Amino acid sequence: MSGDATEGQEVVWEAGKNTHENIIYSCFGGMSNTGVTAALASLEVVKTLGLQKVAIGCLGGLPTQVVPVYTKTAAADRVVTVDGCPFECGRKVVEQAGFEIWRSLVLTRDIGMTKKPLNEDVGQGKGLDAYILQEEVAQAKEAIIAALAD
Ligand code: SF4
Repeated sequence: MSGDATEGQEVVWEAGKNTHENIIYSCFGGMSNTGVTAALASLEVVKTLGLQKVAIGCLGGLPTQVVPVYTKTAAADRVVTVDGCPFECGRKVVEQAGFEIWRSLVLTRDIGMTKKPLNEDVGQGKGLDAYILQEEVAQAKEAIIAALAD
């Protein structure tokens, strides 16, 4: 953990108690199919494994130094990052916060996704569903579960 977490916040959670065993930090790049798939797959993992086993960390709470986000992450057995594309925003933010990453997934690398920006077809009436393949969400979900179990 690096830096001073913001002072003066009410911390209602005590380190080591009632926490999640593992934390996923997923990018949520809502401007591309890869980022959306990373987020949807991460949610599916939490729904399947349950909140005792895993939760999704608040990625924005790291650079803003939100105390409960830091303490819950520090208490977790494993931190897995899930990024849609090679920019690896999630991994970089988690590393900059000083946390050790158990496994780092990149969907373009690890399940062979092709990144598609969502703005390219604006004006053609395509909706979000046209960009999101359920097979890729399922593949990403299985890759995350495997990474947590390694
Ligand atoms: S890793 Fe790629 S898809 Fe995810 S937020 Fe960053 S740029 Fe977007």
